[in-house]
Amino acid sequence: MPDTLDPEIASRLKRDDHGLVAAIVQQHDTGEVLMLGWMDDEALRRTLTTGRVTFWSRSRGEYWRKGDTSGHQQYVKSVAIDCDGDALLVRVDQVGAACHTGERTCFLAGGDLPAVVGSRPEVAP
Ligand SMILES: [Zn+2]
Repeated sequence: MPDTLDPEIASRLKRDDHGLVAAIVQQHDTGEVLMLGWMDDEALRRTLTTGRVTFWSRSRGEYWRKGDTSGHQQYVKSVAIDCDGDALLVRVDQVGAACHTGERTCFLAGGDLPAVVGSRPEVAP
């Protein structure tokens, strides 16, 4: 297993001031958006090469392999990078709850905000 991130991949990342990119995690078969985490080059390397999702924990300042303490592992199915390299889409098989609250997704845990619903204009036939 290589011990540094593939330079071709590293060159495509647009990191924030802390060296991190956002990683959106999605259940591969249902499309559920599970959570958002952060990855540096090493977390992405581990995610790409081990079959398990690893994040950089901004609050704890350490690598965090999802499920090691909770038992709620994320098994990698695919990893995509967005158009300008500042976000990743990690499709996984999520065991149990993705959110530390016990909810399946962090967005169920947080809940809906009041939003005005928009609709596209009707087009005359
Ligand atoms: Zn959460």
